[in-house]
Amino acid sequence: MRTGIGVDAHMFTEGRPLVLGGVEIPAARGLGGHSDADVVVHALMDALLGACGAGDIGTLFPDTDPAFAGISSLVLLRRVVDMVSGMGYRIANADISVVCEEPRVAPHRSEMRLKISTALGVNLEAVSVKGTTTEGMGFTGRGEGIAAIATVLLE
Ligand code: MG
Repeated sequence: MRTGIGVDAHMFTEGRPLVLGGVEIPAARGLGGHSDADVVVHALMDALLGACGAGDIGTLFPDTDPAFAGISSLVLLRRVVDMVSGMGYRIANADISVVCEEPRVAPHRSEMRLKISTALGVNLEAVSVKGTTTEGMGFTGRGEGIAAIATVLLE
């Protein structure tokens, strides 16, 4: 068994859709980034890559490559899952914390779990998505961006 951890953060940007865990969430601002800036899926991919010692998403999907401009992070996640299973691992579970003041995660939790578990090829129960705030402190507290932390267990 192997565990992995992934961390990511993206800045709020005007004029972009907000995509979290593969779900487009109605919001005044989205997150800036080369892909769809899905901070939740980015943290999860780094956790998966970390667990099998396969590097990180910055190396695998460089933000200088036009092929990844605006791409759905779920597409990238499926590529990572293919790598993980190609190395002989099975995903036991994934746990993700989303750190922000806005939006609230709970109303979108079910849809995120569904999107993520489908991309991972696991049961819904194997994927957890939780929201938390930093009580107004730091960049997430000031509403400058969203951070995510993910852990996975591979067998
Ligand atoms: Mg990222």
